[in-house]
Amino acid sequence: MLILVVNAGSSSLKYQLLNMDDESVLAKGNCDRIGIDGHVSHKTADGRSIDADCEFPTHTEAFQKLVEVLTTGDAAVIESMDEISAVGHRIVQGAEVFDRPCLVTPEIIDQIDDLRELAPVHNHAHALALRACTAVIPATTPQVVVFDTAFHQTMPPKAYMYGLPYEDYEKYHVRKYGFHGTSHRFVSAALAEAMGRKIEDLKIVSCHLGNGSSITAVKGGKCVDTSMGFTPLDGVLMGTRCGAIDPSAVTYVADKHGFTPDEMSQYMNKKSGFLGVSGVSSDNRDLTAAAEHGNQRAKLAQDILAYEIQKYIGSYAAAMNGVDAVLFTGGIGENSWEVRESVCENMDFFGIKIDRELNRQSRGKLVKLSTPDAAVEVWVVPTNEELLIARDTLAVISK
Ligand code: ADP
Repeated sequence: MLILVVNAGSSSLKYQLLNMDDESVLAKGNCDRIGIDGHVSHKTADGRSIDADCEFPTHTEAFQKLVEVLTTGDAAVIESMDEISAVGHRIVQGAEVFDRPCLVTPEIIDQIDDLRELAPVHNHAHALALRACTAVIPATTPQVVVFDTAFHQTMPPKAYMYGLPYEDYEKYHVRKYGFHGTSHRFVSAALAEAMGRKIEDLKIVSCHLGNGSSITAVKGGKCVDTSMGFTPLDGVLMGTRCGAIDPSAVTYVADKHGFTPDEMSQYMNKKSGFLGVSGVSSDNRDLTAAAEHGNQRAKLAQDILAYEIQKYIGSYAAAMNGVDAVLFTGGIGENSWEVRESVCENMDFFGIKIDRELNRQSRGKLVKLSTPDAAVEVWVVPTNEELLIARDTLAVISK
């Protein structure tokens, strides 16, 4: 059974075609630069590929190209779209409307579009992609939407409410939503399996560290708190995002620079974080290289991240009244032994102790880093959001 997973942004359409019989990826790619000019990159599991400039005035042309590369030419993997059982879409913001994956209808697409005020960069693009997909694929192929926020809908009000007047929640839906939910759900389940324990019995701190980073407290398989908030700007320092700062610093800096609210938002989302603190790069690898050459601000940026993660582990240990395991995932979490080592240093109070040599050798693979005598297990767990979206899609259409 074949499932097509789509992750659409305002100018890109990333996709993976999975064979769910063995959960293997048959092909993946990206129809990029939508609304600018257009480019398709497509790779098959057996090594065939396409890299070409195109014209993508809208998501519809990008979808048509996606169908074309999957079904025709040298890198085709199927003969017809009828071979695909369903399409699963990643959706960033489901707010309080969606707490689980669901089948796409025209009303569901409108509801996702209506949430665009809460996720201006993402939700409208998702709605455009859903409409384009509906126009291009066979009418008989079901589509399913899987929400980044859904996993976090189990947080209690004391965790998701802000200290603003209550009307702002009631009228404007201002609250913590959390993001990366699909990833946190996937890795926490994979960790329970690796530990040979029931997830219902575990207290896990899940650290998804990439260009965007979030930490989630998962108790008994459910999210009880998470570091990202109303938007993905909250929480720890990220590639170009500042993470949590004193709200008064926001108004003060905006005033000093003469920024409009939108400009201030851009400043905190695109010019801050690793990039802003280091002045070097938003990329963790560049910071590690610069720090090795003595760049103090690059080191400072990484120190801030590690320190903030340590504090989240401490606070989530309090929130869950204990921790059984801490896991690292995402581009940084899976690959950067330096960041993992810094996070796990001086954490013996929490029972965290890792095998430093093993940590230094571990990259991108499921592995337990904690020493046998450590009270808390520490693991690297590679994430796979596309696979979970495909599994969810299959589950919804099988109902
Ligand atoms: P996104 O949040 O956009 O999905 P990723 O999860 O791919 O991003 O993470 C990107 C981050 O992972 C970058 O900061 C990059 O430097 C870091 N990263 C990727 N590979 C490595 C590596 N081998 N060593 C250290 N950091 C890495």
